[in-house]
This record gives sequence, C-alpha cells and structure tokens, in this order.
Amino acid sequence: MQFIDLHAQQDRLRTEIEGGIADVLKSGRYILGPQVAEFETNLAMFGDAQFATGCANGTDAILLPLLAWGVGPGDAVFCPSFTYCATAEVVALAGATPVFIDIDRDTYNMDVNSLKQAIADVKAKGELNPKAVIAVDLFGQSADYDALNPVVREHGMKFISDSAQGFGTTLNGKHPLHWADVQTTSFFPAKPLGCYGDGGAITTNDEELCKALDSLRVHGKGTDKYDNVRIGMNSRLDTIQAAILLPKLAVFADEIEKRNVVATRYTEGLAGVADRIPTVMDGVVSTWAQYTIEVPDPFAFADALKAEGIPTARYYPKPVHMQTAYEHYPVAGNGLPNTMDCIDNIISLPMHPYLSEEDQAKVIAAAKSALA
Ligand SMILES: *Cc1c(COP(=O)(O)O)cnc(C)c1O
Repeated sequence: MQFIDLHAQQDRLRTEIEGGIADVLKSGRYILGPQVAEFETNLAMFGDAQFATGCANGTDAILLPLLAWGVGPGDAVFCPSFTYCATAEVVALAGATPVFIDIDRDTYNMDVNSLKQAIADVKAKGELNPKAVIAVDLFGQSADYDALNPVVREHGMKFISDSAQGFGTTLNGKHPLHWADVQTTSFFPAKPLGCYGDGGAITTNDEELCKALDSLRVHGKGTDKYDNVRIGMNSRLDTIQAAILLPKLAVFADEIEKRNVVATRYTEGLAGVADRIPTVMDGVVSTWAQYTIEVPDPFAFADALKAEGIPTARYYPKPVHMQTAYEHYPVAGNGLPNTMDCIDNIISLPMHPYLSEEDQAKVIAAAKSALA
C-alpha cells in the first residue's frame, strides 16, 4: 500500500498527460509556453480568482508577494509554527522576522487569540512593524479566515493564505482568497494538486500585484527580460509541468470529492479508537492533504501498521520554532502550548483519492488492533 498513490491517478490520466508532454516537446516552447497561460487561466477560475501566476515552487509562491510588497528588515510577519518550514523560511529570506503563532487545538490551524496576543506583544515592544500574516490551510483544511481577517485588517497588514496543502478548500463556499490578498499553492508531487517535479502558483484579485509577480518571476523584468526594473528571481512554472497540471486540474474537483469519501470512512472507522480524529470546522470542505490522528505512542503505532504493510508519516513532530535555524525568532506570548501539546502524538494515515475501500478497511483494522 502506498501513502500517496500517484500511479493510480496516472492510470486515469495517462493519455492526456503523455499527450500534453509530447506537445511541449514538439513545440519547443519550454519556458512560459502557452500551456502555462492556459493553466493559469484555469487555476484562477477554479480558485475563484481574477489572476493566477505560475512560479517554480510553493515556497517561491509565498516569497514573491512578500517581495512585491517590499516586506523586509524591521517587519514582523506572523505565521504558525506547526507547518512545513517553508512558510517561515520565506519571511526570513525576505529579511523580515517570522513571529510564531499557536494553533487551535482542534483544527491545527492558526489560533486567532494567539495572533492577537502576538500583535499586541510586537506593538508593545516597538522594535518591529506588524506587516503581514501567513495563515496555513494545514492538512487541507481552510484556516478560520472569518475570524482572522478582521484582525489582519484592523492592523493594516497584508494577508497570505499558504494553501500548499489546501488549494481547493472552501469555507462557507468561498476560497481563502475571498479574505486573503493572495492564495499560494505548491504543485510538489505529493500535494493534493501535484505535478511531476516542482511547481507553484499565486492567485490574487489585485491586478497591479499580478503584474509585479509576473515581473519578479523573470528577474524583475520591465518591458522585456533585458530591461530590469526591480530585483527579482528566476521562478517560472515549467511548460511541461503546466501541461501535466492541465488534465490533473480538470479532475481535481472530483478528486477532492473522492478524498472526502475516504476521510469520512476513516472518521467512521476510527471515532472512539484514536485519541483524536480530525475536526473539520462547520462550513469547511477540506482537500484532505493528510488524514492526521493522535495516538498515545505514534512510534509503536507506526511499527504495528508497518508490520501489516501500511505506511504512515508524521507531520510535524518538530515545529518550526524549535528548529535550529528558527529558534531565535519570537513566539506568541504564551509559548505555543497547543502546538507543543499535539506534536508527540500526531501521525498521518495513507490518504489519496484512489484509496480502495478494501485497503482502507485494512488500515482501520490495523489501527484498531494497534490501539486496542
Ligand atoms: C509543501 C509546502 C510548502 C512549500 O512548497 P514547495 O513546492 O515544496 O516549495 C509551503 N507551505 C506548506 C504548508 C507546504 O506544505
């Protein structure tokens, strides 16, 4: 059994994907070929956005808007610690200071009270300028944008939705971009919408920002790439990856539905078995990048499942604020108790749209016997 079975999806889309790659090979337009623009149009439509900009990966997708807004030294950018390191990494790369925020104990997403506390702390100290907030749609679930947005706006900050795991999630029928200035995503192969290499994208409704992002991803180009009006990067989505993503995006809504069927089966099978199963907020449709539970001893649990041929993974046993490179950055006043409380117990189960009922029954049975 695979943790994420990419071959099952390939079997469904092989003709379209191989045909798309062959077209790119023939056309010779490997950099920003027409498939990139076509994919950007479709992605924007999917995410209810006016504009989408492809880039090299999901990390650059967060960095590029920070650069466009001039976020840098002296600025505080608030983000969770219970996330992949890239969320905070880009803040430091831009020269700004990541300030780590605690999570809601049930959803694992940014806690609004911890955010308020951290903003108050930063303002009281007076050394940093509160500049932006990066909310993460962890494990595929929309952050609580309704609660976070008024706080972000009250302090005149920019708002990024890091949807590397959650692109496609909705809250009350709306995509995160309804609240955020930009929604960013990653097409790393294992993400819900993945390609066969690295890739990323930014959606926005801000036309000026979209133009700045288009410039920044090509070395700060002006009228052409030999006219440089700002310091930029080389961060484009490859044409071949766009060609792979086009047919994948066409079935993505269906795959999100399939992921939700799988998640519901886990939830029915594991309620009362694991210490915690995922809590989905009212009004949220998750993309289920991960199905993460909490158990008393995740190492013993992983061994028991491995013995049955079932892979597991742990996201994230060491939160970013405890990583060597990040331990000197500030954390919200109370020291992130909810983050610290979950990290010793979390473990994620196989999750992908094509997980068969039969395989899933095996996972649930193995989990039950490991936790008996
Ligand atoms: C994967 C991920 C990223 C980075 O995406 P890459 O494409 O690997 O650069 C950023 N944030 C989160 C929450 C992620 O899961």
